[in-house]
Amino acid sequence: MASPLNIVRADIDYEDDAQENSLRPSLLNEFLGQQSVKENLSVFINAARERQEALDHLFLIGPPGLGKTTLAQITANELGADFKVTSAPALEKPKDLAGILSTISPRTVFFIDEIHRLKPAIEEMLYIAMEDYELDWVIGQGAAARTVRIPIPKFTLVGATTKAGMVSSPLRSRFGIIQRFSFYTKEELSLIIRRSAKILNVEVDDDAALLMAGCSRGTPRVTNRILRRMRDFAQVEGSGVITEEIVRSGLARLGIDSLGLEKYDREILLAVINKFGGGPVGAETLAISIGDSMDTLEDYYEPYLIQCGLLQRTPRGRVVTEKAYTHLGLSPSSAQRESPSFDF
Ligand code: ADP
Repeated sequence: MASPLNIVRADIDYEDDAQENSLRPSLLNEFLGQQSVKENLSVFINAARERQEALDHLFLIGPPGLGKTTLAQITANELGADFKVTSAPALEKPKDLAGILSTISPRTVFFIDEIHRLKPAIEEMLYIAMEDYELDWVIGQGAAARTVRIPIPKFTLVGATTKAGMVSSPLRSRFGIIQRFSFYTKEELSLIIRRSAKILNVEVDDDAALLMAGCSRGTPRVTNRILRRMRDFAQVEGSGVITEEIVRSGLARLGIDSLGLEKYDREILLAVINKFGGGPVGAETLAISIGDSMDTLEDYYEPYLIQCGLLQRTPRGRVVTEKAYTHLGLSPSSAQRESPSFDF
């Protein structure tokens, strides 16, 4: 049986992180949804395992929280191989990468998150490692310095990114398997809720599960977070069972509306409406106007707003849709300075 995952991520808070790890599936049949990604990967893993070879390098694309890290670890578990995890911003110098790759065992699955943020010198070193399974190593200093090539075991690089367009084509072309994640359906998320509730030992009514699933931005990480908060409400203010009533009042108290938008999502839409007349507005200007980084706006908030049909990306910038005005209880002509209302 594979061991539980213990992955520490920089982008989520530590308490949530520790709890999240206990909910991570560790085998492919526990990984719910993403059917085509799973089916393809299952074939490639079985083939590599039968041949006792390292799996081809794997490139995973998709918004945060959809299960890229989890699937990388599952791949290692299914292959019976070691798993190493890092993120591109943590690799500051080539020696950081060399330090990891020089100590791996054969067929190790090496996961690099946010691979679009690799520094050029590290990317160069990675090309050789991925293709020739060798490391360029500099010995000596100054005029006496020379580069030697050191062989390393065959390994599988799993590169994950939220921004496939920012990955250079030489790097992209070195991945033999490319898989794209999509947002989960409500039904898939309610299966994830069922599984997580079992692990957390909490009872959830069917209607409550569907309601939570519909407000989870199509994202398992959000589903699990909402489930944990509803467990708190049910424990302190209810009978311990997560009912539809607990979820309705809990979501309202957390400021999560019927589409799963949080305060910040609504602030983004309102900024486009009130400050830029509904758009178009460039991503950078929009990010500045709401006091956040363009990365957060583009990686986390925008994909779901676009998926919901509330925001559009046009060549001239971001534009809100009719549906956004309706959802916020505004009309395009009277939008200025009105506050939105939301309920279920
Ligand atoms: P990413 O690397 O894409 O940001 P993670 O792999 O960290 O996402 O997934 C976030 C959390 O969501 C995980 O801890 C896991 O508990 C849960 N999760 C993700 N995908 C699935 C899935 N397909 N089935 C069940 N739980 C999942």
